[in-house]
Amino acid sequence: MKVTDHLNQAKETLFSFEILPPLKGKSIQSIFDGIDPLMEFNPKFVNVTYHREEYIYKERDHGLLEKIAIRKRPGTVGICAAVMNKYNVDAVPHLICGGFSKEETENALIDLQFLGIDNVLALRGDSIKTEANFRPHENGHEHAVDLIHQIGEMNRGDYLMDDIKLEPTDFCIGAAGYPEKHFEAMNLATDLKYLKAKVDAGAEYIVTQMFFDNQKYFEFVDACRAVGINVPIIPGLKPIKSMNHISFLPKFFHIDYPEELSNELLKCKSNEDVAKVGIEWGIQQSKELKAAGAPCIHYYTMSNSESVKAIASQIF
Ligand code: FAD
Repeated sequence: MKVTDHLNQAKETLFSFEILPPLKGKSIQSIFDGIDPLMEFNPKFVNVTYHREEYIYKERDHGLLEKIAIRKRPGTVGICAAVMNKYNVDAVPHLICGGFSKEETENALIDLQFLGIDNVLALRGDSIKTEANFRPHENGHEHAVDLIHQIGEMNRGDYLMDDIKLEPTDFCIGAAGYPEKHFEAMNLATDLKYLKAKVDAGAEYIVTQMFFDNQKYFEFVDACRAVGINVPIIPGLKPIKSMNHISFLPKFFHIDYPEELSNELLKCKSNEDVAKVGIEWGIQQSKELKAAGAPCIHYYTMSNSESVKAIASQIF
């Protein structure tokens, strides 16, 4: 079932979450162990992230280094199929531009269609870890809007290199939005202009980057509505879990902690202290978002289901 159908049928705020494929070599059981504790909250869909290749250097004879491309977290599509099969819940694979030619994208979408997957979160993807800027595949897409356009074409039966109409796909397309602005955007206004382009190209809902200040989400929704973005905007929340997160999350995701939260975090002496603050903050954020009528609250588990469970048990 499509995410938008779930949203349309909902009588109150829905629960959903995102998982990461395990590191290569770990079994699918680690995924199930992360999902099992969250099933009691009746998630309507589960997102599965996509992780592109990165480069590592292997030492060879005579001190030479060989540059090798590896994917540390493969398995997005297989996990989606396994999750749908085991839990009878909709899986939403993330599909990125980075590393994909248009034809590979088309073939990936055909795989998803054959598996009965109705949803795709269409993203540009980040740059390769060792590269400063995002570089598209030479026959691929530079921005998420181009990927959304390609999926939209397939939904109309227009495949690459075929002049005749083929059997249309029927994907519900989601896109990413940034209440605190995407870090590369010149300002929020240009970011919103490009977000609107994604919606005009066929994105039917938006999932936000994590944020810790609900006011930023409310202002973002207002700003979206003001420029004519009228699709549902699903807030994304991440429970802070460890001392490491205190500096990692703002740095990696380009988000700020509100002062009240940073003051609490500064008092923490251990991962347990941080996890407690993260859960309490997540509960307060979730309560306010639910009271304000958020269509769904989407939790970034980042392989940490316990905190999400602790929050969800107070909200759903
Ligand atoms: P875009 O919409 O292409 O935007 C990227 C930048 O380009 C923005 O600054 C935007 O303002 C600008 N821009 C957009 N369109 C144009 C245009 N036509 N011309 C000029 N500038 C333009 N990354 C992964 O690798 N795997 C994942 O699974 C993953 N999941 C995510 C899930 C969510 C909910 C979110 C919020 C992010 C996720 N990311 C993931 C990270 C995401 O890929 C990065 O944030 C990436 O840098 C931008 O992706 P985007 O789809 O927002 O890109």
